[in-house]
Amino acid sequence: MSEKPVLSAPQKAMRRLGLHRDIDLALHLPLRYEDETRITSLRAARDGDTVQIEAVVIGCEIVHRPRRQLLVTVDDGSDTCALRFFTFYPSLQKALAVGSRIRARGEVRGGFMGRTMMHPVIKPAGGELPDALTPVYPTVAALPQAYLRRAVQGGLARADLSDTLGAATIPGLPESLWSLREALTFLHHPSPEVSLAQLEDRSHPAWQRLKAEELLAQQLSQLQSRQERAALRAPALAPLRDGLHDRLLRALPFQLTRAQARVGEEIARDLAQPVPMNRLLQGDVGSGKTVVAALAAAICIDAGWQCALMAPTEILAEQHFRKLIGWLEPLGLRVAWLTGGQKKKERQAMLALVESGEAGLVVGTHAVIQDQVRFHNLALAIIDEQHRFGVEQRLALRSKMAGGGAAHEVASVGAGFAAGPPQGESPPLGGQRSDTQCASVGATFPEPHLLMMSATPIPRTLAMSYYADLDVSTLDELPPGRTPIVTKVISDSRRDEVIDRIRAQLAQGRQVYWVCPLIEESEALDLRNATETHEALSAALPGTLIGLLHSRMPAAEKKAVMSAFTAGQMGVLVSTTVIEVGVDVPNASLMVIEHAERFGLSQLHQLRGRVGRGAAASACVLLYSTGDAPRLGETARARLRAMAETADGFEIARRDLDIRGPGEFLGARQSGAPLLRFADISVDVELLEWARRQAPRMLAEIPESAHKHIERWMGGKSEFLKA
Ligand code: ADP
Ligand code: MG
Repeated sequence: MSEKPVLSAPQKAMRRLGLHRDIDLALHLPLRYEDETRITSLRAARDGDTVQIEAVVIGCEIVHRPRRQLLVTVDDGSDTCALRFFTFYPSLQKALAVGSRIRARGEVRGGFMGRTMMHPVIKPAGGELPDALTPVYPTVAALPQAYLRRAVQGGLARADLSDTLGAATIPGLPESLWSLREALTFLHHPSPEVSLAQLEDRSHPAWQRLKAEELLAQQLSQLQSRQERAALRAPALAPLRDGLHDRLLRALPFQLTRAQARVGEEIARDLAQPVPMNRLLQGDVGSGKTVVAALAAAICIDAGWQCALMAPTEILAEQHFRKLIGWLEPLGLRVAWLTGGQKKKERQAMLALVESGEAGLVVGTHAVIQDQVRFHNLALAIIDEQHRFGVEQRLALRSKMAGGGAAHEVASVGAGFAAGPPQGESPPLGGQRSDTQCASVGATFPEPHLLMMSATPIPRTLAMSYYADLDVSTLDELPPGRTPIVTKVISDSRRDEVIDRIRAQLAQGRQVYWVCPLIEESEALDLRNATETHEALSAALPGTLIGLLHSRMPAAEKKAVMSAFTAGQMGVLVSTTVIEVGVDVPNASLMVIEHAERFGLSQLHQLRGRVGRGAAASACVLLYSTGDAPRLGETARARLRAMAETADGFEIARRDLDIRGPGEFLGARQSGAPLLRFADISVDVELLEWARRQAPRMLAEIPESAHKHIERWMGGKSEFLKA
């Protein structure tokens, strides 16, 4: 047992395909099927049919014209056929010696030279015909189909496929029919009478069974991680009367929208629990997420703990920082600022503020989760535009609280916890931690509360499936006084009209964004670059200050340009997508996006959301260019059409999901979420709803079956979901 087995090449290939356990093999379903259940006579085969014939070899020779090949002639009594092989081994030549009876399977071509099959699959004649279709599995080079077939067959026979569903019945499936074993056996070896259409569109009952099981596994595993999280501890952040929260609320220059107030309460309720919050705050661009975040931070600080707010770009982080100090410093709060581009001295000072606990709020970019950062007592982490962060970064934030991750940090972070809140309550958890306890993260450490924010709303079916582990709060209302943004899709050849529009906006004292996709001429893409546009606009609009912002500029320069624009000194800002997320300049009323066809749908929607933030009527112009092509590609047109037709972020997200599919939409590779292999949430909504109802019941009533079900379906993969 303890010896390390030496793996053959096909075995290694199977590992690479993730085929470790019997159940993995049993769930490795065919790509397609071949029908070897019957023999067709040559005379009955039509041009283009893929058939199996049984015939006698009447000629076998190597010819050199038009190309070197093995040319075999066979006769099945009804007609003759030429079999051509351009690559062949002597063994094939031997098997096809004149007089042999063989079976050949391939596509028959008519041709005036007579019937031909190119590279048919050859078997000796005789032997029983199979009574089921032959599966063709997805495979890789080092893993021959025949080897894989045997392996799958073995795995299927050995795998424990006993029922886990208990009394649950699957919608649309007759009870007692299609057990998991029956369904899998059928899908690997369907009878030749089956409707191939039903197999292909996965509407066959065997597919239904499989999809139901898969969706159930997804729900169960997320429910389980939710329950595991409920067993973890977090500091309970009770609200304080007349604290920072209440004073901020009074000091705001506006009233919260009803949606903001409701969502604020949802968050406050979570924070008051001694269990880590895991909540997503979604709201369309401009719905006012920042103030909700500030109020959550204030609750945390009122309770004597630190809060960290992290944004994906320096510009966005800086803007949050400004806004938050504007709101909170007059109320006496110290806010620390951490970013990669910071001067060393400033950084040291900030790190000291964070470590001593003097700064109740820490705002910054990824720099917030770097090794040197030691929090005094972090209790709430807020991540803006969460979809821009990967799983690792979210995990890093969590571990900032749970002992800093690295062993050498444990001592100082531990000390931070021991200090606890200043009000002299008992030290919040972890006070008497020893190093051995540190090893078991979760059991002894408090976790921070996590609030993620996103302007890319998750369509309902995705929220129900991939994000079932998350609590979601939605800002479904924009602050009052906004006028809808008019969106125009215009060909690049009409730039002059666009410049006239800009002039008109500038004349009214408004400001304009012009967004370009690339900063330098790239031969491959031949995009008009931001620099060139900047020059052209400067020439066309004399007397107007026109700024240029791109990602390769030094941070200080970016900052200067951005603040000149924010302050209204600059009429037009030409920029690459660095302004994509979150930038808030209410006086900007026109957004021009150049080469709009190159942007993703949610990116376009985010960009458009940069305008329409004040009371002035705003517009978004999507300039497209077809380049040398006569017209735009299908998906590019679908994106631009969606932009023109709706301004509703949820509708945009739904269409984006349609256009891209869940894998791309989720950014599966970076989110780490295991994707569904069999079910399709855009089709299988009924099964998804069923699984959502079943999962809690199963975990409560038949927990052992539930765990067995998760293990069977997710194996080691469910870990990812907990991030
Ligand atoms: P987003 O949800 O896109 O992050 P922001 O938080 O940047 O939106 O808010 C957009 C703008 O709306 C900001 O200028 C903000 O100060 C303002 N705002 C937020 N809430 C309200 C409100 N209840 N009434 C009026 N203006 C508001
Ligand atoms: Mg924002």
